[in-house]
Amino acid sequence: MNLLLLGPPGAGKGTQAKRLQDNYGIVQLSTGDMLRAVVASGSDIGEMAKEVMEAGGLVSDDLIIAMISERIGEDDCRKGFILDGFPRTYTQAEALDAMLGEKGLKLDFVLEIKVDNEAMIKRIAGRFTCAKCGAGYHDEFQRPKVENVCDECGGGEFTRRADDNQETVRERLKAYHRQTAPITAYFAEKGLLKSVDGMASIDDVTKQFKDTIGAAESVLT
Ligand code: AMP
Repeated sequence: MNLLLLGPPGAGKGTQAKRLQDNYGIVQLSTGDMLRAVVASGSDIGEMAKEVMEAGGLVSDDLIIAMISERIGEDDCRKGFILDGFPRTYTQAEALDAMLGEKGLKLDFVLEIKVDNEAMIKRIAGRFTCAKCGAGYHDEFQRPKVENVCDECGGGEFTRRADDNQETVRERLKAYHRQTAPITAYFAEKGLLKSVDGMASIDDVTKQFKDTIGAAESVLT
C-alpha cells in the first residue's frame, strides 16, 4: 500500500507517518528528514539546502525529485511507502505520477490533514525530538512522562529543528499556501483525496486514518 500525506508544516504528518509505518509495515519517506541528513553531511548541496530551509523556502524541484525517485526504487519500499513532505509543488506532483508510472506503482490514498493556520505556529514552535530515537514531543501537548527522559528509549538528550522558530514557521506556512495547498485539487481530481480533521488529538487522527483505510480495504491489492 502506497500512501501520500498532505498538510501544512505542523499538521502532524511526521507523527502519523511513524504510526502508519508501525501499523502497516510500510516505510516513511520524509523529504525533510532526507534533506536534514544531506545538511548534516556538510556537502555543498547540503550547504545550499540549509540556507533555503532556514529561510523557510522550498529546495529545488530537481534535487527533491532525484532524491525520491532513487529512494522509492530501494528494496524496503517494495511492501509500500508513506510520502511525507513530498510532493510540495505542482512540478513535483507531476514528476511523482511519471515516476510511479515508470515503476508500475500507484498511490492507494492521498490523506490530507486539515488544520487551523494559527494553531500550527504554536504547535511547531513547541516541538522537540529525542536525539537518540527520534520520538517526537511538545512543550505543551506531549511532554515526556518523566521530565528529560524519553518515553520510548530512555534517552536524555533532545533536539529542536533549526527551522522551528516563529519567523521561519511563518515563511514555511506561506510557502505551503502558495505552492503546496493547490496540489490537493490535483489529487482530488484523480479521486484519491481523503481529508481528516487534524485539530483532533493525535490518537484520534490515527483512528480517522485507520477508518479511512479500513473502509476501503477491499479496493487494496
Ligand atoms: P519538513 O520536515 O517536511 O517540514 O521539511 C523541512 C524543510 O525541508 C522545508 O521547509 C523545505 O525547505 C525543505 N523540503 C522538504 N521537503 C521538500 C520538498 N518536497 N520540496 C522542497 N523543499 C522541501
